[in-house]
Amino acid sequence: MIVVAIIGMLAAVAIPNLIQARKDAAKKACQQNLNTLETVMQQWAVDRQKSDNANVSGDDIKPLLKNKKMPRCPGGGSYTLTTVDEPPTCSVHGRMDTEEGEAAPK
Ligand SMILES: [Zn+2]
Repeated sequence: MIVVAIIGMLAAVAIPNLIQARKDAAKKACQQNLNTLETVMQQWAVDRQKSDNANVSGDDIKPLLKNKKMPRCPGGGSYTLTTVDEPPTCSVHGRMDTEEGEAAPK
C-alpha cells in the first residue's frame, strides 16, 4: 500500500514534467520545420527571381522540400505561407522564435 502511494506521488510529480517536456520537444521540432520552410521559401524566391511581396504557397515550395512534402507540426498545427518576406507561421506555435537566435538572419 505504501509502495502504491509512493509510486502515485512520484507519478504526480513526474507526469506534468513529462507533459511539459513533450510540449517543449514538439515546439522545438516545429521551430525547425519553420526554419526549413523559411530557408526553402527564400531559395524558391531566388531561383524564380520573385520579389519580396510575391505570394508563396506550400505547393510552390513542395518540390524543393525533402520527400517533396510539407513538414508536419508535431503539435498538430498547420503551416501558413503568405509572401516571400513574411516568415511562415504555425497555427499552434506561431512564428519562429528569433530570441533563441536559431532563426535570426545571419
Ligand atoms: Zn507547430
